[in-house]
Amino acid sequence: MGESEPKAAESGCTGAKIEGVPVQFDAILALGTNLGDRVENIEDAIRRLGSDGSIHVVARSRLYRTAPWGVTDQDWFVNGCVGVQTRLSPHDLLKHCQAVENDMGRVRTRHWGPRIIDVDILTIGDRQICEPDLVVPHPLISERAFVLAPLKDVAPSLKIGGKTLDAMLDALDAGDVVPFET
Ligand code: ADP
Ligand code: MG
Repeated sequence: MGESEPKAAESGCTGAKIEGVPVQFDAILALGTNLGDRVENIEDAIRRLGSDGSIHVVARSRLYRTAPWGVTDQDWFVNGCVGVQTRLSPHDLLKHCQAVENDMGRVRTRHWGPRIIDVDILTIGDRQICEPDLVVPHPLISERAFVLAPLKDVAPSLKIGGKTLDAMLDALDAGDVVPFET
């Protein structure tokens, strides 16, 4: 990790209880991109996620224009969230998300650096998973307004560790997270 990057608990498994996940979602995924035609990248990723029938996207947030986080000397992002139905196991869901990233040509350069697409698993029902390659709920949700704002669109009653999404948003500067449509 470079000196300019936050010292956040990157892979920290918080063990925080998660409540209020909409019952119609088996999982909630976060999407982000800051290269090329960002809105089209999100649309392409959503199409690809559902293309083999193993995932059905049943809800989607608004899209947000957001300032880079962590590594700030890079271009602005577009972020969004989707609620999905799937029978994939958590690790197969992770592999499916990574296959979409790879198929879209994601090249891993520096940590938190520019990317054509990032697909992260935010929640899988109310499950807690603490494995080296998969931590659910995603450990940085509460620190990222660019995740919390779209997450609130699809799961407004969600609570993590007893905290509402609004409480977490209030603790952050969300001024750099702006929806494209209101
Ligand atoms: P980031 O999303 O932090 O920019 P990457 O997309 O490169 O970084 O992912 C790094 C690693 O994070 C992946 O190899 C994956 O195994 C791990 N990981 C752990 N928990 C999750 C999660 N909930 N969703 C997606 N990836 C995760
Ligand atoms: Mg990722």
